[in-house]
Amino acid sequence: MTSILFDFYQPNLNAVPCRPKEYDVSSLQPTSVIITFHNEARSTLLRTIVSVLNRSPAELIEEIILVDDASPNPQDGSLLDKIHKVKVLRNDKREGLMRSRVKGADAASAPILTFLDSHCECNTGWLEPLLNLVSHNRTHVVSPVIDVINMDDFRYVAASAELRGGFEWNLVFKWEYLSPPDRRDFAKDPTRIIRTPIIAGGLFSINREYFNELGKYDVQMDIWGGENLEISFRVWQCGGTLEIVPCSRVGHVFRKQHPYSFPGGSGAVFAKNTRRAAEVWMDGYKELYYAKVPLAKAVPFGSIDDRMAIRERLQCKPFKWYLKNVYPDLKVPQLMVVRQGSIQQGHRCIDTMGKSVYRTAEPAQVFQCHGAGGNQDWSLTKEGQIQHDDICLSMPASLFIGAPVVFQSCDQASKWYFNKDELIQSQDKPGFCVSATPDSNDLVFAICDQDDYLQKFEFD
Ligand code: UDP
Ligand code: MN
Repeated sequence: MTSILFDFYQPNLNAVPCRPKEYDVSSLQPTSVIITFHNEARSTLLRTIVSVLNRSPAELIEEIILVDDASPNPQDGSLLDKIHKVKVLRNDKREGLMRSRVKGADAASAPILTFLDSHCECNTGWLEPLLNLVSHNRTHVVSPVIDVINMDDFRYVAASAELRGGFEWNLVFKWEYLSPPDRRDFAKDPTRIIRTPIIAGGLFSINREYFNELGKYDVQMDIWGGENLEISFRVWQCGGTLEIVPCSRVGHVFRKQHPYSFPGGSGAVFAKNTRRAAEVWMDGYKELYYAKVPLAKAVPFGSIDDRMAIRERLQCKPFKWYLKNVYPDLKVPQLMVVRQGSIQQGHRCIDTMGKSVYRTAEPAQVFQCHGAGGNQDWSLTKEGQIQHDDICLSMPASLFIGAPVVFQSCDQASKWYFNKDELIQSQDKPGFCVSATPDSNDLVFAICDQDDYLQKFEFD
């Protein structure tokens, strides 16, 4: 057969150490494949579906759910539901890929969801290693290596597997080389699973119940973009794992531009989606994004209450944890931090007392200085927050003289001027300062007084 459709790429599997890995198909959970599309070429859409059906063990494919996101010609999709296992849903109006995928996921019945773009070719043996991981590890979210289908002649070209997903502070997804230790491991065993800070987003498998529990997608995002960062932050910060499986390979047509419109303009849509991801998941680090893309600040992003509620319900970790544990290779500009060190008054230092997250405000304290950083290490940010991990020094809720100054989540915390005269002054309530107390370790609110030694703190 010579048509593009059926002339599939045949990898030299003997050259790849994946082949000997046999999977006991009966031990794997089946999947619903979800493909959303808007105005996709019929040939590429069909190539995707045929490759799924031809290259997967039949018992592992429960169904293929196509979500036609209001393509101008309804027959692009409707003609396909004659195909065995294919179900077609259609949006009356354009919703974008996030709401379309959620619609597909809500209609799915298999225990595992596998999302694909509408212009893919699944390669031999692509599915088993994905399902093997997800079937046995409910919180693992896994992607294949994404090979390249040449956009000029639709040839299938193998891509390097030594890549993972990342980003810079403009929050645009990028492929990047593995970190040096991962590269060494990969050289020893090229079938080894790769942990990735971000998934490319279009192609992955996830346990269906886990997808629902985690909050699906942010359905207030539109059209395209930002959702891959959002789901990646969410998976990692809320206790899951993102992986790329080198033995699973799927080709994808990488296009130079989007063959569809963005109502409102692509820049504004991308900025809105990205802001929603940043505002919900990045804590104070979102300022690094705004510093890089100042125009984004002018783009309204709607309410994020529902998404914050998910973060709260799942007790997800701060972005700082993600940077330290998942993406330590990302360079974090120091821009936000004006000064860093201990905040000292005589032999006493402001001290978190060992907590790293305060869900409710609690009285701030000083403790004997130990000079070892740790709980006594503070940053003064450019905006005026006094910060340690995700907790900040903040004004009391009721403002009376002697009310306790508190520690609370930096999202809600107030800002300060920490001037050269060594007073920590409220930005919102000028004239009010932080004061130590002579016979306890509490910090309290007081009227600023240059001559009161209890109000003098030193950043060392
Ligand atoms: N898509 C969609 N609705 C939209 C935009 C995109 O259903 O409003 C589909 C699109 O047809 C494709 C997938 O979402 O199957 C991802 O989009 P695309 O391939 O353009 O993104 P890329 O791979 O270029 O990042
Ligand atoms: Mn695509």
